[in-house]
Amino acid sequence: MDSAIKPTPIPTEEEDPPNQTTALLSFNTDSSSTPPSKPTTTTLLLIFLFITTCVSLFAAIGFAFLFFSSAKSQSPSNQTSEPIAQFARPLTKLNHPVVLLISSDGFRFGYQFKTPTPNIGRLIDNGTEAERGLIPVFPTLTFPNHYSIVTGLYPAHHGIVNNYFVDPHTGETFYMGSHDPKWWLGEPLWETVVNHGLKAATYFWPGSEVNKGSWTCPLNFCRHYNGSVPFEERVDTVLQYFDLPSSEIPVFMTLYFEDPDQQGHHVGADDPEITEAVARIDRMIGRLIEGLEKRGVFEDVNIIMVGDHGMVGTCDKKLIILDDLAPWIEIPQNWVYSYSPLLAIRPPPGFSPSDVAMKMNEGLKSGKIENGKYLKVYLKEELPSRLHYMASDRIPPIIGLLEEGFKVEQKRLKKKECGGAHGYDNAIFSMRSIFIGHGPQFARGRKVPSFENVQIYNLVTSSGVPMSKSIVLVEATCSYLVIYELEYTMLDIIYRGFAEW
Ligand SMILES: [Zn+2]
Repeated sequence: MDSAIKPTPIPTEEEDPPNQTTALLSFNTDSSSTPPSKPTTTTLLLIFLFITTCVSLFAAIGFAFLFFSSAKSQSPSNQTSEPIAQFARPLTKLNHPVVLLISSDGFRFGYQFKTPTPNIGRLIDNGTEAERGLIPVFPTLTFPNHYSIVTGLYPAHHGIVNNYFVDPHTGETFYMGSHDPKWWLGEPLWETVVNHGLKAATYFWPGSEVNKGSWTCPLNFCRHYNGSVPFEERVDTVLQYFDLPSSEIPVFMTLYFEDPDQQGHHVGADDPEITEAVARIDRMIGRLIEGLEKRGVFEDVNIIMVGDHGMVGTCDKKLIILDDLAPWIEIPQNWVYSYSPLLAIRPPPGFSPSDVAMKMNEGLKSGKIENGKYLKVYLKEELPSRLHYMASDRIPPIIGLLEEGFKVEQKRLKKKECGGAHGYDNAIFSMRSIFIGHGPQFARGRKVPSFENVQIYNLVTSSGVPMSKSIVLVEATCSYLVIYELEYTMLDIIYRGFAEW
């Protein structure tokens, strides 16, 4: 396509073919005739685009941005002298690109070193890996993160602010089995795919059973959650999609495993039980690879393997008890919407949240509360902006941030407290998970820096055409118009695997 952009050979045995896209949604990949935009023009246009559409769904913003950016090419003169890995490799058997998004719940970054994981290792060695893991969104919980991965939005904007929460306007409760589309904002990948006249298939993923927009959770391509389905059956069902006539093979598929999260909650992150759970996930990846190879499509499928968050051990010596705060302020149980690791409090009308937060912090800082210094309470507006956890009425007004491994409880109980938890600040390393991309869109044997999982929506939907240097990355939030001037976007880095990264 663009003869001026020369793929540089990478150190593998395979020869990279000429530049070619195998992107899932390929908008305008042959744009070599388009002159490169000056960054200032790009900036102004993007700001204009962002402001004028900010009131609409954020997914729409992201998509428009992708249309916009993918319509551009750039001059290679913009590039540094560092070698650029490659563009996509051509498909050999499939007649259209396929993305298979796999989640291994609670697969903390580093678990891959607990035991030999030859199959995950094969994806890493021949694909692109976030070298120090994938950064979850805050709160580092299962539903908020899975839905951020497929919408590209932070929880305040996609609406799933916790695994369990109450709508303050209606008093209705969201729980993990809530499938009413009113809870699920934004546009998940399966909906984007169907909107483009393509087929998607979901084998479990939070939100996938919700009939929303053009997505109707079709019988053959959308499994209703049932945790008792053996992992082998899930893998085999996904493999069977590749036995369909070419035009019927979904272009986007999800596959979900509950492990090793289940074990992590029971025994913490450093128990042999985790090691076995990781080995089992690796065997499932091996089963998948084998099935794809048997069908001759392994190298054609873009496999993206992620986890939603990490895990850290918790024990009873790391407890903070809310009843201990009574000398400063009484926090009744019915004010508390979640305890640990995300403390979320909504005082009833008549109580000032700022007054409640202030008194709680007075107590916590007094030195008289056991472990008090490991909890800090914020009005949600005062949380660090990097957490993006403010712009939703569904988020209670008072949020407590716990230090790693600590827990909050209402009162002292005589039960065993040792186990594992996640949900903490996403800056904590133990909350990180993994990102591996393998297939024709991904450079082989590349390491990229850690990035937040909200990037994955763009990664899947963009064409992979690198955008201009000094591109502007607009963060999808109406509360903060945050514009980063970056040398390269994360998409550039993931797809092209710049050597210096
Ligand atoms: Zn999870």
